[in-house]
Amino acid sequence: MTVRTRVAPSPTGDPHVGTAYMALFNYCFAKKMGGQFLLRIEDTDQARSTDRSLQAILDSLRWLGLNWDEGPDVGGPHAPYRQSERGAIYAKHAAQLLESGHAFLCYCTQERLAELRQSQQRARVTPGYDGHCLHLTAAERDQLMNANTPHVIRMKIPEQGVCVVNDMLRGKVEFDYKTVDMQILVKADGMPTYHLANVVDDHLMEITHVIRGEEWISSAPKHLLLYEYFGWTPPVLCHLPLLRNPDKSKLSKRKNPTSILYYQRMGFLPEALLNYLGLMAWSMPQAAHGDGEAAVAGVASGVASGVSVDEKFSLAEMAASFDLTRVSLGGPVFDIKKLTWLNGRWLRENFDDAGFAARVQQWALNKDYLMKIVPLVKERISTLGELGPLTAFLFSGEISVKPEDFVDKKVSPAAMRAAFTQVMEGFELLDDWSKDAIGALFKQTADAAGIKLRDFLRPFYVAIAGSAQSTPLFDSMEILGKDLCRARLRKALEVMPVAPPVVADVAAPTVPRA
Ligand code: GLU
Repeated sequence: MTVRTRVAPSPTGDPHVGTAYMALFNYCFAKKMGGQFLLRIEDTDQARSTDRSLQAILDSLRWLGLNWDEGPDVGGPHAPYRQSERGAIYAKHAAQLLESGHAFLCYCTQERLAELRQSQQRARVTPGYDGHCLHLTAAERDQLMNANTPHVIRMKIPEQGVCVVNDMLRGKVEFDYKTVDMQILVKADGMPTYHLANVVDDHLMEITHVIRGEEWISSAPKHLLLYEYFGWTPPVLCHLPLLRNPDKSKLSKRKNPTSILYYQRMGFLPEALLNYLGLMAWSMPQAAHGDGEAAVAGVASGVASGVSVDEKFSLAEMAASFDLTRVSLGGPVFDIKKLTWLNGRWLRENFDDAGFAARVQQWALNKDYLMKIVPLVKERISTLGELGPLTAFLFSGEISVKPEDFVDKKVSPAAMRAAFTQVMEGFELLDDWSKDAIGALFKQTADAAGIKLRDFLRPFYVAIAGSAQSTPLFDSMEILGKDLCRARLRKALEVMPVAPPVVADVAAPTVPRA
């Protein structure tokens, strides 16, 4: 049996480090076993999926070097690899489930379902569909069908018994069928839900091992039932622990930047980011580590920082020694400080001067990036030497800001705090990260706050560019990207004064200390 694994991201929003983490573990397992690694795009949620996000996923996984053997851009024997192009396959399989009596049409309206949910909440019972449409008479069913009543397709769930999910890392996990909902498989618009499309594709694409985040383990009973209904052998299931913020909550962009693009923009190396993700929930077997020059150089810095030398390894080394059973289930903490330390080691230990320079060029001193910046600076400088000071913030990760940078005659500390918070909330709703969309968000927020746009923008210039005299704000923000802007605004919020500073008075009375 050839091992086949896949990563199956949904193209909504920025490419997530969690996707890279899943891709890495799937990649290493497949490579270690001499198998194949696939990329499948799960874009059945048409309202939220975008081509821009799809492209960013492809670009960032490629940047990391996690190349796939089959996928939307490289094709393969099971193409297409985008679920939005596989509608007919899901329709056929849904019809098969209806035919075999494992699924049923549900005509319940949104109102009925909302009432049901409320009454279940009041009664403190597990929310879920109550099977109403399972009990329609043949005449009722005919009438609804003849009237073309909108409907969804739901799967049947056994009324009794337990489903035993065999997880590679957790062993047997039991779920009482009473807690498993009669999942919608096909929505009213004819699109499949994740559950149907995922199972059908994993089977047709001959996936042998499903390695994914632990948030999906509660879906496993539904998936295993679907395999049974279709008469298919299920793949081996393995649910990896999720990445955590330092406070142990699920990694979220509110607390930690989560976009791969952010780490790229900050100047992290793909090798270091992958290496760091490889340390999440996994450890390199001691004896397996390569003993090249890099490893020897690592002894000194590794020991000095109290971190084992074996923590620095390449993708090829990880794949060669990968062993899924070494995954530990404690929630791995994504710690930017440690990632930064590791990145420093990669930079110092792995490049000669020419190699280092090449990386800097790839990162930001390249023509594509300069071409984005040139239109902003051309009218503003008289010698090329002015370029550096004017655009340093476009070539930086973090920038340094101080509390006094945010003391403003026109905007009070409270109003400034509110403005920063509202703009950051607005970021979440901005799918289109363009200067026009960013400009519209600022204008709307300034209007709502009753502050003139010019005054409103001043502290944002400082937060983003480090100075109120800078290249145009919205253009600059477009270039920097959403996550880097969010990080800079968050930093500004951390340092800005809470109340107006007390101006030291020459005649201020000195209060003796108690
Ligand atoms: N589309 C799902 C996600 O984005 C895939 C989950 C799975 O691997 O089954 O997480």
